[in-house]
Amino acid sequence: MELYSGHINKLIEQFAKLPGVGSKSAQRLALHVINMPPEHVERFAQIMVDARKNIHYCKTCCTLADKEFCPICANPKRDHTTIMIVENIRDLAAYEKTGKYEGVYHVLHGAISPMLGIGPNDIRLKELVKRLEDDISEVIIATNSSLEGETTAMYISKLIKPTGVKVTRIASGVPVGGDLECIDEMTLLRALEGRTEL
Ligand code: ZN
Repeated sequence: MELYSGHINKLIEQFAKLPGVGSKSAQRLALHVINMPPEHVERFAQIMVDARKNIHYCKTCCTLADKEFCPICANPKRDHTTIMIVENIRDLAAYEKTGKYEGVYHVLHGAISPMLGIGPNDIRLKELVKRLEDDISEVIIATNSSLEGETTAMYISKLIKPTGVKVTRIASGVPVGGDLECIDEMTLLRALEGRTEL
């Protein structure tokens, strides 16, 4: 016997495809949606469709943006000669929340992982290399201290070194395997201040 109607089952299936949502949570979310006022459901669906349609990758740093360039890259007050390389947008947000970093970013959207078959061409490295043609004084590698993050950092430093641009790596005050986004602001700032030249 089917526990739920076909429509609910379909909805549960969709929720269960989202990261971090198990089957129990998927059921809870689906039943919640069923109980929402129809106009709220419509608005929710429309916001998702609009977001997917209108958000682009910033032409400079590859973070998500509403326009061609993100607000950070478009801000003339930022130091455009210092680029901090992060694995994902959540890491960028973590550093941005400290309010102490004045440079710009480059979002890789992943890290090199031979185990998972993710190579240098699968992350936003080509875009980074192109940026080095501009006047850049320092590239700060702020990838995570996981195996993938370290592999990526090493690869990038080898890539940039021949160009003569200063390359630094954030201090490993960040716990091994730690996700940047889970670490408090003080630790992030200490890691940034204690960065060493590669
Ligand atoms: Zn940008």
